[in-house]
Amino acid sequence: MFHSVRAQLTLWYCGVLAVILIAFSGISYVLIASQIRESTDESLADTSHEFTAAFSDRAAEESARDVFLDFRYSDREILVLSPAGEVIARSRTRALPSETMSTLRTMARLRGFFTIPGGEDEDGLRAFATPLTVLGKPYSAIVIRSLHEQTDRLENAARALFLGIPLALLIASVGGYLLARKSLAPVLEMSRKAQQIGADTLSERIIVRNEKDELGILAGTLNGLLSRLQDAFDSQRRFMADASHELRTPLSIMQGEADVTLARPHRTEDEYRSSLDIIQQAAKRLTRIVQNLFLLARSDAGSYPIDRSRFYLDEVVDSCLTSLRTIASSRDIEISFDKRTEVVMTGDEDLIHRMVLNLVENALKYSTAGGRVSVRLETDGSSNVITVSDTGPGIPLEEQDRIFDRFYRLDRARGAQRAAGYGGAGAGLGLPIARWIAEIHSGSVRLASSGAEGSTFIVALPVSHSS
Ligand code: ADP
Repeated sequence: MFHSVRAQLTLWYCGVLAVILIAFSGISYVLIASQIRESTDESLADTSHEFTAAFSDRAAEESARDVFLDFRYSDREILVLSPAGEVIARSRTRALPSETMSTLRTMARLRGFFTIPGGEDEDGLRAFATPLTVLGKPYSAIVIRSLHEQTDRLENAARALFLGIPLALLIASVGGYLLARKSLAPVLEMSRKAQQIGADTLSERIIVRNEKDELGILAGTLNGLLSRLQDAFDSQRRFMADASHELRTPLSIMQGEADVTLARPHRTEDEYRSSLDIIQQAAKRLTRIVQNLFLLARSDAGSYPIDRSRFYLDEVVDSCLTSLRTIASSRDIEISFDKRTEVVMTGDEDLIHRMVLNLVENALKYSTAGGRVSVRLETDGSSNVITVSDTGPGIPLEEQDRIFDRFYRLDRARGAQRAAGYGGAGAGLGLPIARWIAEIHSGSVRLASSGAEGSTFIVALPVSHSS
């Protein structure tokens, strides 16, 4: 029951309020009590003062009676005691108990205020004794007042506090609970909504009532999280759909070829060879796609092991071009390397090799016979720049933004046809992989220009990474 934040808030709130109320009431009670006592004493002293002033210039016993005619109070009594301690006059006729009288006699000699316990109503008496010199003799005047009224007032004050504190706490706890419930209701609503949101309903959002308050900020943050999750889910789904689509093509080629070949018995060796050749090509393509997918999946998970070492960048570019020279000359495409500098860099040599290979392969793949692929390596102070240019058909302006997207291939039929001499079209993963490799080396790769005269891709790798 006390696990809810509402109940805990209310408990804390009431606990703190109870401490404050009790401390405040305690102090108030002490102050009220001392004020009530002081006012009792003051009124006794005043009465005593007025009485002695009226009394002192007359002869003791005779004038006492006259003076008493003026000093008749319902709540106090005045006694005049002779020097011997005898009561010679009193404002009331009612006799006081003998113990009270003997205490009064003792106190009369001491003077001042004193309290006598007991008395008619068990609340005790408060008395003030003052000297009264009449015709040279030391008399005493004692004003006595029952403490009944004072006790009553104190009891009333205590009762008010004893009833007031629990009542205030009750009202505060009910009010606090309702307030906490009202303030926290949006949190419950948010969690209910969040519970309803699953992988299929990621497009739903938590309602933001007031985006400026804390709960609104929380709801906004959760909605931001949902948007990011939705984007990630969507791209995963796209990735899966595109990947399976790309894998299906070579697989169906292999299966179709095997089915056709096996459908008729006793084929010639040439027929078997040509079928196996087709199956081998499809298997190679499948292997390449799976390797690329695996690399991208590991790069997304941040688990691709980067093997850093120091190497000559110009040698890596050179070896890429050397590996492609045979295929280039078979397609009547000229490859040139303009090495303007020797560059030592630190990074993953295999990945850099793969990045350069992807770009140069594309340049070769999409160029026609008689074309030229030029690669240049230079340093511009802050970066080592590799420029790959070709004399291919170029990439239409409206497609240029998307060529770095995964699985994006423009004009698939045309691409496949152009790339046919190169072992088939790719799966649209070459450029995204090149970009990822450049980025993990704190660099970049971009399409600098593309048109009817060809395309130019530029890779920039920061020199700080290269030293
Ligand atoms: P692919 O493996 O299909 O080549 P990429 O990601 O490397 O995939 O390239 C994406 C698309 O960009 C290619 O399908 C191709 O249409 C286009 N492209 C890439 N490089 C060039 C280039 N040098 N010339 C013309 N088109 C290119």
